Amino acid sequence: MNLIAQLQDVLGTDQVLISPEAQAHYLEDWRGRYQGRAQAVVLPQSTDDVIQIVQRCGDAGVPIVPQGGNTGLCGGATPDTSGQAVVVAMTKLNRIRSVDAINFSITAEAGATLDQLKVAAESVNRLYPLTLGAGHLSTLGGTLATNAGGLQVLRYGMTRDLCLGLEVVLPDGTLWSKLSPLRKDNTGYDLKQLFIGAEGTLGLITAATMKLMPLPAARALIWLDVADAEQAIQAHALAQTVFAGAQTAAELISPITLSLVRKHLPEAVLPAVAGDWPTGWAFMMEVSAHDAEFLQALLAAWVRACAADRMPAGSLIAADEDQAAIWAIRKGLAESQKREGISIKHDVGLPISCIPQFLSEASAALEARFPGIRIVTFGHVGDGNLHFNLSFADPAQNVALIDQSLAANAVVYEVVSRLGGSIAAEHGIGQLKPAWLAAHAPAGSIALMQQIKTALDPRGLMNPGKVLPG
Ligand SMILES: Cc1cc2nc3c(=O)[nH]c(=O)nc-3n(C[C@H](O)[C@H](O)[C@H](O)COP(=O)(O)OP(=O)(O)OC[C@H]3O[C@@H](n4cnc5c(N)ncnc54)[C@H](O)[C@@H]3O)c2cc1C
Repeated sequence: MNLIAQLQDVLGTDQVLISPEAQAHYLEDWRGRYQGRAQAVVLPQSTDDVIQIVQRCGDAGVPIVPQGGNTGLCGGATPDTSGQAVVVAMTKLNRIRSVDAINFSITAEAGATLDQLKVAAESVNRLYPLTLGAGHLSTLGGTLATNAGGLQVLRYGMTRDLCLGLEVVLPDGTLWSKLSPLRKDNTGYDLKQLFIGAEGTLGLITAATMKLMPLPAARALIWLDVADAEQAIQAHALAQTVFAGAQTAAELISPITLSLVRKHLPEAVLPAVAGDWPTGWAFMMEVSAHDAEFLQALLAAWVRACAADRMPAGSLIAADEDQAAIWAIRKGLAESQKREGISIKHDVGLPISCIPQFLSEASAALEARFPGIRIVTFGHVGDGNLHFNLSFADPAQNVALIDQSLAANAVVYEVVSRLGGSIAAEHGIGQLKPAWLAAHAPAGSIALMQQIKTALDPRGLMNPGKVLPG
């Protein structure tokens, strides 16, 4: 039997997509930046299905591209154009296996979406904290494979920080399972860390045990019009001391970014309590507590601290519907950028104190190299993470800019590197940045990564062309 017939035998013909129409959704990334081809897209529904797929593909020497919700922003889940790969779409392997309210943990299959995890956690009065704009699509496996960050890292950490245990099908088709719910477990190498952030290059994650948190009883947003990034990070530093751990988000949005939201998402409405749409930068912070009175005390302390420092305290937004309206604006930024057209995306990590310097130096260097360039920047400034997207408003000029992506990247990454930053803060490397990773990784890092890759996947069949160069 050929490979397709074997996969149909294992999974059933309706779970093996062969026609171009059925495959189309799986062969292009969310931004429309990458298009690939595959001999099949398969939809496993159990860990055993995944084992069978990996073994059959291994026997046939066929590369595998793992895919979750296909919301990644670096092309990691898109196959190359050779048409040889099998895409393993994990969205039907999505059961919540167990929720332990006392241990504050949840075990779920890799295709469960973030929204599914949140609902399951809330059913026992707990919080699954990982929050992204694409949470209705992004999966547990995809967020683990990219070590996703998002909007609440400041308080709860990245996906890696939330993971207690993993179940993984290795490239040779064997199962490694340690779905441990333990918080302390120093028994040799912490193997799960190898697969978190590996973007599917070392194995297919089939399930995980994740931490849950107490569900906050009260949340408030602070919406501040600020002159520039410097003022935002000063406000953030003050907030860190006043809120002492109760701050859950700190997001910066540039004026151009806000203008794109207003252009492309007319349904996005700034609530009256936040004032008029800012003409300058917007800075928003979320504070949450397990008691409404305590939250009020924190907000009062914030107003006093701002008065003492002669800083604006901003609009304090308590009503749930007003907070939801502001979060819809924040979560709509990536979508409005996408509707505006293709851009050169950067997802950089910086020491928070260096953010203003990065913005002024990178902007000046880009303007000198590409006069009139438009910089759409926003991000999780409380984590030192900026999205820094480059484009021209004029479509013809924009096409020419995209052709010069390498030159534009070099300008940006030179400044990032000089300031001790990272070229990939939370979106990963995918097929977008392997060469840049190789150029910026500390000496010896790529060789070490290659040794790990070779040890686990000697034939290089697991998500080839992603993360590592060459
Ligand atoms: C509107 C929007 C907002 C976003 N906001 C954020 C944000 O705030 N923070 C952030 O970090 N990211 C953000 N992202 C990026 C994206 O959502 C994350 O990278 C997410 O982790 C991808 O999950 P996914 O299930 O869609 O994975 P996919 O895109 O399907 O895959 C991503 C990578 O993981 C691998 N993979 C997927 N599933 C598995 C598995 N089970 N086992 C092994 N490897 C696997 C794939 O091969 C690929 O390399 C955003 C994206 C969008 C579209």
